[in-house]
Formats: sequence, C-alpha cells, structure tokens
Amino acid sequence: MVNSYQATSLKEALDFRAKAAVTPYAGGTDLMIKADENVTYLFLNKVPEMKNIVEDTDYIRIGAACTFTDILESKLTPAILKEAVSHIAAPAIRNLGTVGGNICNGSPKADSALIFLATDSKLRLVSSRGERVIPINEFYLGRKKTALQADELLVEILMSRVGLSNYYYKKVGARNALAIARVSFAAILHLENGKIVNCMTAFGAVSDDIIRRADIDGMLIGKTIEEAKVVKEDYLAAYDREIVPIRGRISAEYRKTVCMNLLRDFLESNGI
Ligand SMILES: Cc1cc2nc3c(=O)[nH]c(=O)nc-3n(C[C@H](O)[C@H](O)[C@H](O)COP(=O)(O)OP(=O)(O)OC[C@H]3O[C@@H](n4cnc5c(N)ncnc54)[C@H](O)[C@@H]3O)c2cc1C
Repeated sequence: MVNSYQATSLKEALDFRAKAAVTPYAGGTDLMIKADENVTYLFLNKVPEMKNIVEDTDYIRIGAACTFTDILESKLTPAILKEAVSHIAAPAIRNLGTVGGNICNGSPKADSALIFLATDSKLRLVSSRGERVIPINEFYLGRKKTALQADELLVEILMSRVGLSNYYYKKVGARNALAIARVSFAAILHLENGKIVNCMTAFGAVSDDIIRRADIDGMLIGKTIEEAKVVKEDYLAAYDREIVPIRGRISAEYRKTVCMNLLRDFLESNGI
C-alpha cells in the first residue's frame, strides 16, 4: 500500500513537504515506472497555484503542474515550446506529464527542459521558509542532481515574453513519433537593427546535463550576420572542443556528428 497526501493548495503542499519526507508527484509518468511502497507521495495535480499559465510585464509564467496538453492549448505558450512539447510521447502521456516533472527528473533527454535552457528561463522554487528565483542552468548539478532542497517545490517557470520568435528546434529519435531523443537541439537567434542581440543554444541527450554554453554563444552577440560569418569557424570549433558525448546505446561519435550538423544548420538557416 503506497502512502500519499493530496494537496489542494500551495500552502498545504509546502506544509506537508516541510513536515515529512515526501516525494512530489505531479503526473507520475516518470514516478509510476518505479513506484515504491516505502515512499510517501505528495500529489500536486490539484494545487491551483501550480496550474496557471499567465503573463506579466516581463515573463510568461508557467505553473509547474501544467501538463503538456495545457501547454499546447494555451495561447500564451511560445512557439518553440509548443513545437517541442508536440513531439513528446503520445496524447495519453501529454495529458498527465507536466513541465515541472520534466525539469525535476533531471534527465538530459527531457524535451521541455531543453527549451527552458535554450531560452534562459528562470525557476521559482518555494518552501515554507520563503522563495528564490534562479536561472535554470543553475538548477542542474550533474547526473540526476538538482539544486532543489528537500523542503522545496518547483512552482513556476518564467519564460521571457520577447525575443524567442526566431528559433530552431530538432529532436532526433529512432522514429518520427513516440521517441525519446537520441540528440535534441534548440536555439534562438534574436536580431535588432541588423545586429545579433541574443544567441542561445542547448543540446539535449548528449551529456549528463543538457549543454548550455552562454560563453561560447556570446561570440556571436553584438555582431551583424556578415561579422558573425567571420567568426563562424571559431564558434563551431569551440563547440567541437566542448561537446563530449557520454557513451550509451548510441555511439558518442554519432551524437557528436549530429550535434555539429545541427549547429551548422542553425547558423546556415540564419544566413551565417
Ligand atoms: C511512455 C512514455 C513516453 C515518454 N516520452 C517522453 C518524451 O518524448 N520526452 C520527454 O521529455 N519525456 C518523456 N517521458 C517522460 C515523462 O513523461 C516526462 O519526463 C514528464 O514530464 C514527467 O512529468 P510528470 O509530471 O509525470 O513527473 P512525475 O513522474 O510526477 O515526477 C518526476 C520527478 O519530478 C519531481 N517533481 C515533479 N513535480 C515537481 C515539482 N513541482 N517540484 C519538485 N519536484 C517535482 C518528482 O518528485 C519526480 O522526481 C515519457 C514517459 C513515458 C512513460
């Protein structure tokens, strides 16, 4: 018999989390595979504060317990996120699986987490002690490790409202549908007045964590397309040095080749 609490408000959820060692349970599509009768689960699917998708002046704020179907149905969802989510599993899983679960499972293959990294989104982590908002790239601390404290919940993801429309996204799997990524890649190139004001890329399913190297992408920022062409080979060489895929069922060489091909294609599709 599995123990569980059903929280019906954020306060209730945080109180449970502070009092006892409970495992947050959103859609359960990761947890149900390894259900453990010694664990007490804290159900989050009826916490209203975690179910909204709203916007404020700067951000689209996505509740962590929003399902992939909620994401697809909201008119506020940026196109890059909608496209990635539409490639996740099948409708039955998309009706249950949440963005919060996708981020907190710590998998480098997590398709929505890739987009939140490629867009430098922020995470709102809340406990009964208070709250903090951190850049998502500070959340991942190596293989299956995250910065989430034992009494915290991921409550919201904050995505920029602007500058995300010129995007590139590819998920390479064993087949076109119902596939876990073998390699995934997402990127944004944002130009204003003929200059690149932002370049953000992320590679999934390659290493222990999703790879997001703002320092390398910075090589293109502030440049025109013509100026970016001049540093293109140096930019590609920097990634060629830094992407070191782990070995798995898919060879590291294959993953590396696909990453570099996608990165080059992203540049070329933008005239670089
Ligand atoms: C058949 C199948 C196909 C799949 N295909 C894909 C795919 O194509 N792409 C993909 O990315 N994933 C895929 N997945 C994996 C899974 O569906 C996703 O990772 C999903 O987003 C998990 O969300 P969930 O709400 O079900 O998480 P849960 O199983 O409820 O939780 C996952 C982890 O996150 C923690 N957690 C959940 N919410 C919070 C929170 N708010 N705060 C703190 N911790 C939290 C839980 O404690 C647990 O450790 C697939 C799974 C299955 C079973």
